[in-house]
Amino acid sequence: MTLEANRIRLIMELRGKGITDAKVLGAIERVPREAFVPDTFKDQAYENMALPIGSGQTISQPAVVAFMTQELQIGDRMKVLEIGTGSGYQAAVLAKLCRRLYSIERHRDLLLDAERKFRELRINNITAKTGDGTKGWPEQAPFDRIIVTAAATRDIPHALLDQLAPDGLMIAPMGDTARDQHLYRFSFNADGQIEREKMWPVRFVPLIGDDEGKASS
Ligand code: SAM
Repeated sequence: MTLEANRIRLIMELRGKGITDAKVLGAIERVPREAFVPDTFKDQAYENMALPIGSGQTISQPAVVAFMTQELQIGDRMKVLEIGTGSGYQAAVLAKLCRRLYSIERHRDLLLDAERKFRELRINNITAKTGDGTKGWPEQAPFDRIIVTAAATRDIPHALLDQLAPDGLMIAPMGDTARDQHLYRFSFNADGQIEREKMWPVRFVPLIGDDEGKASS
């Protein structure tokens, strides 16, 4: 089958799995996933699987990208923050739906590669930087939506919640990488308290902050 036929088959598979938001499906259809995977994996670009992208990291499974994107309910005037640029694929999908996407990646090589792809594909509404995403991007806060694409092993970093707009939403995986890792949705209730809702089980690489492993005083 050609890549184009595989792409159409993947869209149908995502529909079958419950991705019903036409804008999300449209965004996935318009982003060439083959541009974000290494050459050796291009023929698998439209398989519903995570693939290696170098530096020990992965491009997420298309169904996970689609579910997280759908759950974020992104509007076209929104400012969105992504933690974990990786290949840049999820960022490219989000950028089709929002006004501006900010993305942070701790591996410089991955970030430079992703930025090159954004340029080649003429995606002009992404601002990305190398750094520790657990600290968020205070200069650009508040964000209408935050998506974390690596799993916090303990609690979700407070800096991220602090940078979420009052009517904002954040989706993030949490838990041990090998077992019991779930996606959570964070939002504020009427009293301004943060509420978290446990969603479905996932398997993401760990979120590694600069302060990880440092002794607390
Ligand atoms: N969204 C990516 C994509 O579409 O290809 C997939 C991301 S991959 C599953 C998770 C990424 O999070 C990795 O590239 C990893 O280097 C990055 N990461 C882990 N901890 C991070 C941190 N504290 N700050 C920024 N990026 C981090």
